Amino acid sequence: PKSPTSKKPPKIKRESMFDYKSEAARKVELIARGREERRQKQADERAIRDQMSHMEQNNPHWEFEQMINEYKSTLDFRPLRENDAVIENQITVCVRKRPLNEKEISRRELDVVSVPTKNQLVVHEPKQKVDLTKYLENQHFRFDYVFDESCTNDLVYKFTARPLVKTIFEGGMATCFAYGQTGSGKTHTMGGEFRGKQQNFKNGIYGLVAQDVFRYLTHPKYAKMNYSVSASFFEIYGKLVFDLLAKKQRLRVLEDGKQQVQVVGLTEKVVNKVDHVFELIQKGSLERTSGQTSANSNSSRSHAVFQIILRRSGSRQIEGKFSLIDLAGNERGADNSKSNRQTRIEGADINKSLLALKECIRALGRKGAHLPFRGSKLTQVLRDSFIGEKSRTCMIALISPGNYSVDHSLNTLRYADRVKELIANDSLEM
Ligand code: ADP
Ligand code: MG
Repeated sequence: PKSPTSKKPPKIKRESMFDYKSEAARKVELIARGREERRQKQADERAIRDQMSHMEQNNPHWEFEQMINEYKSTLDFRPLRENDAVIENQITVCVRKRPLNEKEISRRELDVVSVPTKNQLVVHEPKQKVDLTKYLENQHFRFDYVFDESCTNDLVYKFTARPLVKTIFEGGMATCFAYGQTGSGKTHTMGGEFRGKQQNFKNGIYGLVAQDVFRYLTHPKYAKMNYSVSASFFEIYGKLVFDLLAKKQRLRVLEDGKQQVQVVGLTEKVVNKVDHVFELIQKGSLERTSGQTSANSNSSRSHAVFQIILRRSGSRQIEGKFSLIDLAGNERGADNSKSNRQTRIEGADINKSLLALKECIRALGRKGAHLPFRGSKLTQVLRDSFIGEKSRTCMIALISPGNYSVDHSLNTLRYADRVKELIANDSLEM
């Protein structure tokens, strides 16, 4: 606002007078100012360093966390909702991500899994270059459904096992597998949600299937069929089979001349109401984990098979069967180097059975394909479930979200991917 022409002459004059008067004073002032600026800069740098080390102590992965947040901010989140359509596939493959647990939170682990939509998932794998620069490798996967950490067992059930209940009322076999690393949520999903050590057996997939089976029985269409329902529960540990409804009695598996496989002497309890099934689920579940410590439990090295069988009253002929399988921890399949001989043999057995399972599911998706059921005890006892056009299966892959589990999670996702991948390709060829 002041006119520059009126102010300019005296200003120049004063400055030139100052310059003229004390050249030395000006130099001193410049040096002092320079020193002050350097001090300030050092103080700023120290403050940043302090802040960084403070962040590092509070969150050792803060750089990765920032990168993940940045990546997430570019995603458009539209997760699965209760009312989304249920797809009727012969083979369904989906993934469930559980929330970070207390142990992971106390270790300050990062959640490295994002679920942007109902069928997509991104793993943000933390990586480091040779020069120690940190970066993320963001890996994308697509499945039939992806359940994020906010999903309940009820919702997971609705899109996975529930559509398969009618299968067993229409002369088909149904199977549902929980696959994943130990601690990823297989038993929580199949057996029921835990509250501390207590498990709610009514809201696991075993219990939810049982409730729907009894609901179907009263349906006018099926009530007249005079069905009888029974249940069995057993465990496959290496090559051995144990009856979870008979104090872990060891059972033999026999195959007759017509390739019919039988678990000899397996307890099969006839059930008249759903509460009776809950009791059996509880009994078998407790039997499975009895005498074990949770850290290194045998149950993570065995497959648990819970079956609901449908027959016409008075007949031995099976009309339909729903097999629900809580698989051994897939990380056990890689148990080799430093473990003892027994553990290595178990690991090899688990690995073999999970590979055979994958092949059998793929064979189910290809009409007339050779069924390699003899590849393991697991696939042998499930043989009849991999046959027939009416048979359907669902694989639920469970993953832990923490950054320390990222390798296992990627292994799980790649396995699940391959179960489905070939099926899609093959159907294109046909
Ligand atoms: P797995 O059978 O695969 O070894 P669990 O089902 O025993 O794993 O789960 C390990 C722990 O994580 C349990 O304490 C369980 O309650 C918890 N958990 C698993 N999945 C979930 C989930 N979706 N929400 C909350 N807690 C979960
Ligand atoms: Mg378990």
